[in-house]
Amino acid sequence: MEHITSTPTVKGPAERFTGDVYLNMIEAPTEPAHLAAGLVRFTPGARTNWHSHALGQVLYVTDGVGMVGTRDGSVARISAGETLKCPAGEEHWHGATDTTLMAHIALVVGDGTGGDGTTWLEPVTDEQYNNALADI
Ligand code: MN
Repeated sequence: MEHITSTPTVKGPAERFTGDVYLNMIEAPTEPAHLAAGLVRFTPGARTNWHSHALGQVLYVTDGVGMVGTRDGSVARISAGETLKCPAGEEHWHGATDTTLMAHIALVVGDGTGGDGTTWLEPVTDEQYNNALADI
């Protein structure tokens, strides 16, 4: 067994997130399973950049209310206790609402190249974010 009693909280980097986001890594991809898991906490207004996951992603919301948006303009309102599955390769973003924080555990499986299989893209604009807010 390996018992890890605490993990550091690090600020989400500005090249991948808008606003204040805090990350606790639970597991980094290692051979042979390539599981990556992390707790991600978004303050109100904060969100990821657009991105995709080579083998998809599972999000389990642990706290608050947030949103997940896709390129076709659809947006899902996600709340504590809910699970959202992002299909392999689909470009999307996730984040808090403008008035509530949102925390989720993010689970991805790396593609075996050493990383977690995430391709990071451009920031979600304020217009895209506000359009999503208007839809939930
Ligand atoms: Mn994602």
